[in-house]
Amino acid sequence: MGYFNTVAEYIWLGGKDEFRSKTRVFEGEIQLLEQLPKWNYDGSSTDQARGTDSEVILVPRQVFPDPIRGGNSILVWCETMRPDESYLHNSHRHWANDIFEQNKDAEPWFGLEQEYFMIYSHSKKPLGYDEKKKQGQFYCSVGTENAFGRALAEEHLQACISAGIKISGINAEVAPGQWEFQIGPCVGIEEGDHLWMARYLLVRLSEKYNITIDFEPKPLEGDWNGSGCHANYSTREMREGSDGKPGLYFIDNAIEKLSHRHMAHMKMYGTGNEKRMTGKHETASYDKFSDGVANRGASIRRGNDTVKNGKGYFEDRRPSSNCDPYLVTAMLFKTTILDD
Ligand code: ADP
Ligand code: MN
Ligand code: MN
Ligand code: MN
Repeated sequence: MGYFNTVAEYIWLGGKDEFRSKTRVFEGEIQLLEQLPKWNYDGSSTDQARGTDSEVILVPRQVFPDPIRGGNSILVWCETMRPDESYLHNSHRHWANDIFEQNKDAEPWFGLEQEYFMIYSHSKKPLGYDEKKKQGQFYCSVGTENAFGRALAEEHLQACISAGIKISGINAEVAPGQWEFQIGPCVGIEEGDHLWMARYLLVRLSEKYNITIDFEPKPLEGDWNGSGCHANYSTREMREGSDGKPGLYFIDNAIEKLSHRHMAHMKMYGTGNEKRMTGKHETASYDKFSDGVANRGASIRRGNDTVKNGKGYFEDRRPSSNCDPYLVTAMLFKTTILDD
């Protein structure tokens, strides 16, 4: 006893989509989801239940090695449920999972590009922000006067890799103190699991830097970029072609379907997005659908390589930085594959 304890951090979303977590020590070694019991918490303290009937149940859905505690510690990503087994309003994984289960053969891949701001906890201003400066020097920048917060971005990258999260890159973004990390390609439901856990690790690690992570789509008013969460997407048919048709045929077909469901998607793509999608700062307009090749002012972009190769993937540029990746990925799959 003692040697083989497992420290598990149960993590979930509170009433305002904020992360909440608490720790539980198990005797013995636990690594598999099936070994983890449900747990519960006081939902009246997270704005999710009344004090008289306060119990919310934590349902473990995914396990990752915990890179912060190390050893055989684990992170346990949970959905939230009432005692009558109904899910809380912001617990969307089960909905998305049901959608992906309806067609496994399609093999959907996703790669989401999470943009965010690092904000000084004291001044409430982005790192490196200076109202006298203009955008231009910060994107993919290097150097003390250009890149702000690299130590945290770098620590986050390494933590994700240690946790087995499929992170595929990071870069400094267009506004000062703004960064991006990419999660993918992931298959189906895995994208939401990995992106949520990557967000959690970023918020956890930010504590020791006195930095607040801001996932809002338009934290700075004026001539500054907002934050998006571009969703890159493909199915096996788009990547390989099928029935003598090239992949591009299936990509065009999917984009055509998306053009008819624009507002239904926008409603699922995050809040406050209309402040970001002004048609300026590399965005399309909020209420009009558009597509293009290599056009960063379009709702949907096909990359040059995809057009040249006649197959590949496309990018939905509409989701905002505070979107729920379960909603975004499952909506893309539902509209392009399941619906007629
Ligand atoms: P951008 O050029 O828009 O900045 P990024 O390089 O930031 O693009 O992100 C591209 C994302 O697309 C990565 O997460 C990558 O894993 C993902 N991706 C690459 N190939 C595919 C594919 N076939 N299907 C879905 N996503 C893909
Ligand atoms: Mn990118
Ligand atoms: Mn970007
Ligand atoms: Mn992009």
